[in-house]
Amino acid sequence: MTHATPRGRTVCIVGAGIVGAATAYALAREGWQVTLVDARPAPGLGESRANGAQLSYSYVEPLATPAALRALPGWLLSDDSPLRWRPRPEAAHLRWLAAFVAACRWSEVRRTTAALLALSGLSRTTLQRWLAEQPGIAGAALHRQPGKLVLYRDAAARAAVERQLAWQRALGCTQRVVNADECRALEPALGASAAAGGGPIAFGVWTADEEVIDASLLAQALVDASGATRCFGSPALGFELRGGRVVALRLAGRTLEADQFVLAAGPACAELLQPLGWAPAIEPIRGYSITLPVVDAAVAPRASVTDQGRKLVYARLGEQLRVAGFAELCGLDRRIDPRRIAALCDAVRETFPGACRFVDPQPWAGLRPATPGGRPLVGATRWPGLWLNAGHGALGLTLAGGSAALITDLMSGRHAAIETRPFSVEPA
Ligand SMILES: Cc1cc2nc3c(=O)[nH]c(=O)nc-3n(C[C@H](O)[C@H](O)[C@H](O)COP(=O)(O)OP(=O)(O)OC[C@H]3O[C@@H](n4cnc5c(N)ncnc54)[C@H](O)[C@@H]3O)c2cc1C
Repeated sequence: MTHATPRGRTVCIVGAGIVGAATAYALAREGWQVTLVDARPAPGLGESRANGAQLSYSYVEPLATPAALRALPGWLLSDDSPLRWRPRPEAAHLRWLAAFVAACRWSEVRRTTAALLALSGLSRTTLQRWLAEQPGIAGAALHRQPGKLVLYRDAAARAAVERQLAWQRALGCTQRVVNADECRALEPALGASAAAGGGPIAFGVWTADEEVIDASLLAQALVDASGATRCFGSPALGFELRGGRVVALRLAGRTLEADQFVLAAGPACAELLQPLGWAPAIEPIRGYSITLPVVDAAVAPRASVTDQGRKLVYARLGEQLRVAGFAELCGLDRRIDPRRIAALCDAVRETFPGACRFVDPQPWAGLRPATPGGRPLVGATRWPGLWLNAGHGALGLTLAGGSAALITDLMSGRHAAIETRPFSVEPA
């Protein structure tokens, strides 16, 4: 991508995950001269590496809901529940938790869901535009639009789901409730599904326009297409201030100067900002995935499938099946619990028997960088020259394009395409 750089438009982005990569591409296509810094040797190797691959534009309800509040004691006590919480005595963790509890009100859930639907809508159109202008990316990043089927095992949940869909319909989502037979017609691979473990399907929700894409491959392709100067394998050590303004980024043995800086370092943002005297409330929530070779395409899912009972997602990426899930509040611990990997493998065996080979399931654990209420922080910080694009939680892939478009509008001094206040870094 070649554009003349307007004066005062050099930008240094810290973090080349899906959010930083999308930001690099969005700014570069507007003529910004971009330098991208990452501690890892290539883009997309952090929390974006092997995530669930879902572009779930219509499934943005936050984790903090009244139902989550009721379930909280169970997360504390149970070892096999899909969500697990081990309390830590750190002040930041306890503050995050208090804010999470405060966000578990329906009025707040509705406000957040509406704001996230606006951002996900912007993401959808942004990514579609980028895929059209860079025709190689869709193939390279295994992009498809197979639709999404969410499976419910509990018939009693239907009334609440129907209410939620009716409300979302008014905000532009096109989704419908389907019975168990329709689920099997929409996703024939479910025909071989054993009821064991997950239980029989009670009903489903079908969203025809949902998409899948490999987040790591997309990050790499966007960085390539952006033409950004790469500074990889270089951990950022901190920011330098002059007269209250951020003017440089410290790396080992040198500093990088730029007109503007964007921090997009996922769960590491707090650590980089703490020395300046303020850090965002971003809690790492660990999840797991496996990636299995498909051996029988006829019994492997083509649609993107969410098993609501088990809180797992399935996505076909080329000749492989990605299965992801679980949520554990356990700090910056990336260790892989083998019981979670065994549970993912069992779920595939039971839901799509005969579809995959299990010799090397490519176990992975990543940390969702979550704000208490579920809204990412996209915008200016209190230090002129420093912007934040972080805290996308379980939706970083889905929201990356919209967040990148939003921050580009803000940095360019333009009126943004959607309301920016819900994502403000500094509360009003
Ligand atoms: C199991 C699981 C499944 C998921 N499934 C989905 C899904 O299906 N759909 C969806 O939308 N989202 C999903 N997510 C969420 C999504 O993966 C995250 O929200 C997203 O990856 C966050 O992207 P990011 O760019 O903010 O962070 P990252 O991808 O972690 O990028 C941050 C980058 O900053 C770099 N960095 C950190 N510190 C420094 C430093 N000091 N100096 C230089 N570089 C630094 C890191 O190396 C990293 O590359 C899932 C997450 C998990 C864990």
